[in-house]
Amino acid sequence: MNYDWLDREGLIHLLTVKEDREKHRMFRKADEVKRKHCGPVVYLRGLIEVSNICRKDCFYCGIRKSNDHVKRYTLSEDEIVERALWAWRRNFGSVVIQSGERTDRVFIDLIASSVRKIREMTDGKLGITLSCGEQGPETYRQWREAGAHRYLLRIETCSEELFRKIHPDNEFHRFEDRLRALQNLQKAGFQTGTGVMIGLPGQTIENLADDLLFMRDFDIDMIGMGPYIPHQDTPMGKGMESLRTGMESLRTGMESLLPSAERFDLSLRMIALARIMMKDINIAASTAMQVLDPDGRLKAILSGANVFMPNMTPKFYADSYYLYEGKPTVTDDPMIVVKELETRLKALGHQIGYGKWGDPKHYFKRIV
Ligand code: SF4
Repeated sequence: MNYDWLDREGLIHLLTVKEDREKHRMFRKADEVKRKHCGPVVYLRGLIEVSNICRKDCFYCGIRKSNDHVKRYTLSEDEIVERALWAWRRNFGSVVIQSGERTDRVFIDLIASSVRKIREMTDGKLGITLSCGEQGPETYRQWREAGAHRYLLRIETCSEELFRKIHPDNEFHRFEDRLRALQNLQKAGFQTGTGVMIGLPGQTIENLADDLLFMRDFDIDMIGMGPYIPHQDTPMGKGMESLRTGMESLRTGMESLLPSAERFDLSLRMIALARIMMKDINIAASTAMQVLDPDGRLKAILSGANVFMPNMTPKFYADSYYLYEGKPTVTDDPMIVVKELETRLKALGHQIGYGKWGDPKHYFKRIV
């Protein structure tokens, strides 16, 4: 296998290959590429889920607008800043401010003023990533000027056909709008991240290979992707976990759900292949990985991921940001999770990049 230039056929082969030797060679290669281009370092991003109010109704998402079981909340500016300072005092390099998609002026200004305040109170030393959905170019500019410098907006799938299947058919859920928003983020000067769900009903291996090629060709700086995990209060999640099928149905386009071990394995392969193809970007070890395997995040890191995002949303609110079944509850002290991971990573020759922004080198090459 020529790892220097993976084409669609090569990706499909590596996403499905059964021989352990070839699989392990792929994971070893991803680890080697990461160590060479990014170093054996894992960067911390404290995750603050600022609001679970969303104007969208994605068929897979637990906090979709139509889910009446969700208790809605929005953190105040003081609460957001307090959480960011908590992370700062514990030597986190960055925070991620995440929310449902809201385009109202009150929310846009809340994000801008919180970002400014965090910058001010940390002397501009705490990195700030936003993940607040599709917004207009003006809003992206406003938030960029306020001091945020990274933005994560997942495309979820680059297949327009599949995108339409997992979203309602209305003006809020247009594939072309998602693409345009990603372009606008790059234009606004953000380090731009995207990602996909892996093991979606109706998704094929060809779709996943195309997702990797899409992210490479879009010149993406960061990836946050993970397995699809159903939520029972969603149109896609109702009764899903009871459906089972094998790898073959994924190859032909499945309408039911892969067993969790296979979704996890596919997700690890996607991370490894993303790392091999996009050597100098940042890749997150997502929480969803941990849901399907107790060592999920660690395995993701050993397969090419280099970012870890402990959740530091105030516990009182965090339980209402329930995107999918089994999402881990927030611990009183996220540092316990960090220290546990650090101990295990050290034994494997990795370290935590305390106090470092850990920007993807790719961004600086892209903007030259
Ligand atoms: S996936 Fe994002 S945009 Fe879609 S309903 Fe959930 S929070 Fe809203």
